Amino acid sequence: MTQRLRTSSILAVLLFLLVFLSLGAGSPVLTCRFTVMVDPGHGGKDPGAIGIDGVYEKKINLAIAQMVYLKSLDHPELRVILARRGDEYIYPTDRIKEANRIGADLYVSIHANAYSNASVSGAETLVHETEGQGSQSYRLAETLQQRLISQTGAKDRGIKWAPLFIRRAKMPAALVEVGFITHRLEARLLQSLSYQSKIADAILDAILEFLYKPLV
Ligand SMILES: [Zn+2]
Repeated sequence: MTQRLRTSSILAVLLFLLVFLSLGAGSPVLTCRFTVMVDPGHGGKDPGAIGIDGVYEKKINLAIAQMVYLKSLDHPELRVILARRGDEYIYPTDRIKEANRIGADLYVSIHANAYSNASVSGAETLVHETEGQGSQSYRLAETLQQRLISQTGAKDRGIKWAPLFIRRAKMPAALVEVGFITHRLEARLLQSLSYQSKIADAILDAILEFLYKPLV
């Protein structure tokens, strides 16, 4: 009896070690640690800004967000969820509600800018107007802005405060304005796959940097 008990407890320890070690080895199902909602701004009946040659902001936002999603598949610890997957209209507040419902760790909204003066260009990142400089959302915005500028070479328009729908997000949230579709050169870049890919890399790198920095 004692012998049998000893054998079964040794087996239990071995089983525990096996499970423990397999977790450490990185089973893809169990290593998904972060959920990030990436929001391609506008969509459907809402084209967003309309730029040079009639280009729609919503198309550029979606193309970049889809690239962020595809590139995120290389990072099994990250689960990227798109707030819209096609050309559909979803109320901004409903996008935030969904992010809150699924308990997302971060919310990044992707937009392209427009201005009446066609010489204005560059990238900027927005946070809700009540976010202080030490807040998590502001830190997320800083990381996004730094990566965008260093990895695309766009003009740095800095971080800005505005009254935004992302104020209802229960997680750090920021909105990137990746460039101006009213600026001839930038509009052309924003429609090119290579530049969209650079922006997507910058956004994904910023997300990973932000998520991992507090853990280091
Ligand atoms: Zn927009």
